[in-house]
Amino acid sequence: MAVKEMYAIAPQWSTPRPCDAQAPIEIEFRNVGKAFPAKGQADAPFAIRGVNFQIRRGEVVSIIGPSGCGKSTILNMGSGLYRPSEGEVLVAGERVDGPVPKVAFMLQKDLLMPWRSIRRNVELGLEIQGMAAAQRRVIADNLLARCHLQGFAEHYPFQLSGGMRQRAALARTLAIDPQVLFLDEPFSALDAQTKMILQQDLARMLFEEKKTALFITHDLVEAIALSDRLLVMSARPGTIIEEIEVDLPHRDNPLERRKLPEIGPLAGRLMDLLHVGADHELH
Ligand code: ADP
Ligand code: MG
Repeated sequence: MAVKEMYAIAPQWSTPRPCDAQAPIEIEFRNVGKAFPAKGQADAPFAIRGVNFQIRRGEVVSIIGPSGCGKSTILNMGSGLYRPSEGEVLVAGERVDGPVPKVAFMLQKDLLMPWRSIRRNVELGLEIQGMAAAQRRVIADNLLARCHLQGFAEHYPFQLSGGMRQRAALARTLAIDPQVLFLDEPFSALDAQTKMILQQDLARMLFEEKKTALFITHDLVEAIALSDRLLVMSARPGTIIEEIEVDLPHRDNPLERRKLPEIGPLAGRLMDLLHVGADHELH
C-alpha cells in the first residue's frame, strides 16, 4: 500500500513519514557476503551471506539480531571501512569502495578528542573539509544548542557526563550535514532515561532534516521507537530473515511512540524471531 493511502486510513497519525514510496533508494545491499580469512587462509566461513535490502531517502531502518551476527560488519561495509567478499553495496546510487563523503558514522564510544574543547570536537569534520573558522563556529554553536549543550562549548570531554558526551558526538556527527547516517549502538552505554532523551533528540533531527539512517541496536523497543522499518537477522552466517514495517505514528517522537499499546506485541514478535528466552539457561 502506498504511504499516501496509509495516511488516508490512519488520520490519527500526528506526523507523516518524511519518506514516501517514490523517494530514491539511498542505501542498497545486493547479495552481500563477507568472510574474514586469516592470513593465508583460502576459504574462511562467511560472517554474513546473502544480505539484500534497500533503504529509501528519508527512511530510518534498524537492524536487530543476535550478538555476532554481522550487524557492525554491515555498517562497516556501508561506510566503506570493509569491502564485501561478494555482492555489492551502493550508497546514494554509487558503489561503495572506500570512505563515502556525506556519510557519517556514530558508535557506542563517543571518540571525542580529550584535548579539544567540545566546540572544537564538533568542528572537527568541518575543519578537515577546510571550512573557515568563523563559519565552523556558527554551525557548531547551532548544533550544540540543538543538542542541548549550550554553555558547554568551551568545556572539555572529561568535564561532561556520559550522556552529554554522546550528545556532543551526535552534534559532531551532524556537523558535516551527512545525507546518510550509520549508527552502531550509539546509546547502548547510557542509562535508560538518558538514552530515551537522546533518542528523542536524534529522532527529531532525523525527521526534520529528512536524513536516511541505518541504526543498530540490541534494544528491541528502541528499534521500534525510532524506525520506519526493522530488518531482523539470523545468527551467523547472518542474513536478513524478516523485514517489518513499523506502522505506528510518532516517528519524530519516540517518547510518545513508546506509550502505544502496539509496542508490546511487536516487541514480542521480535523476541520470537530472535528466539529470546529459547535454548538459553536462565541464571
Ligand atoms: P555484531 O555487530 O552483530 O555483534 P560483528 O559484525 O561485529 O557482529 O561480527 C560478526 C562476525 O564477524 C563475528 O564473528 C566477528 O568476529 C567477525 N568479524 C567482524 N569484524 C572482523 C574483523 N575485522 N576481523 C575478523 N573477524 C571479524
Ligand atoms: Mg556490533
